[in-house]
Parts: sequence; structure tokens; C-alpha cells
Amino acid sequence: EYFDLSSLVHKIFDEFTPLCQKKDIEFLLDTKDNIIFYGNEFRIKQLITILLDNAIKYTGEEGKVELKLESHTSTVQLSVSDTGEGIPKEHIDKIFDRFYRVDKSRSRNHGGAGLGLAIAKCIVNEHKGNINVSSVVSEGTKFTVSLPYKAPQN
Ligand code: ATP
Repeated sequence: EYFDLSSLVHKIFDEFTPLCQKKDIEFLLDTKDNIIFYGNEFRIKQLITILLDNAIKYTGEEGKVELKLESHTSTVQLSVSDTGEGIPKEHIDKIFDRFYRVDKSRSRNHGGAGLGLAIAKCIVNEHKGNINVSSVVSEGTKFTVSLPYKAPQN
């Protein structure tokens, strides 16, 4: 189905704003308006939610999280970046695996199952896109999702 991806991104941003305020995280949104996207709105919402959940979970007080949406000729690019703890290089290849968590002992603090990114990857594949991550320990992480896009022809 076609849906307004820009409005969805705004809606999700509003939903996560209170959580960021509570953690004293600076939360920024940068989006182009009127991006009408063909895909599964529920699944795309789930995808963005997973990435934001993680960004906020792995970023300490006074950090910064940014949600960005850009459109190009034949792709849209969604990115979630944070100034959190980062992911050590040796773990990067495995974080999209089911049940994989960088620090198992952290489960007590954060209570994740290690499924989020496996689901995220699955949703990106369903939309024939790709997902990339770049991360520096103690500096932060950026997930970039690129999805094929064709504007509706009225
Ligand atoms: P959940 O299933 O609740 O999402 P999770 O966060 O442990 O639990 P994933 O979302 O699959 O599981 O993430 C896998 C691992 O990747 C995490 O345990 C964490 O170590 C690392 N990770 C994911 N996103 C970030 C991030 N933004 N900053 C730092 N580490 C991250």
C-alpha cells in the first residue's frame, strides 16, 4: 500500500519524545515532507521503532539521538544515529543474528532478547532494501536503511 512515510516518521518522533526527555537525551528529527512510499506501513513503523528503541537504550543521559529521512531519485534513506556506547568491531557482523547480544550480562539492565535487529533486517529484506551500521566505541552508532522508492504517479 502507499502511505505517507513523512507523517509516519513525525508520528513516531512524537511517540518517542517523552522517553528521551525522561532520559535527558537530545532528540532530533530531520525529514523531508510528503514522501509517499510503497510498502507495509505497520512493518516500517516496527523497523523505525526497533532502531530508536536501541539508540535510546544504549545511549546515556545527555546523549543525542537523531532520526533522519531523505529521499533520492529511486531510494529513500532512513537513519538513526546516537552518541551512545557504540558496538565493538568484532561484534558488528553478528548483531543482526537472532538472539545475539554484545554483552550478555547487560540483559539484566536492558532486558532485551537480542531479536530486535534480526526483525529489523527481515523487514528491510521484505522491502528489498539494505541496512548498514557504522559504529565507534564510546562515540556512537549510526544505522542507515536504504529502501527502493518510486513516487506514485497520481
Ligand atoms: P531486543 O530484542 O530487546 O531489541 P537487544 O537490543 O539486545 O534486544 P537487538 O536489537 O537485536 O537486541 O540488538 C543486538 C545487540 O546489538 C544489542 O544487544 C546491543 O549490544 C547491540 N546494539 C544494537 N543497537 C545498538 C546501539 N544503537 N548502540 C549500541 N549497541 C547496539
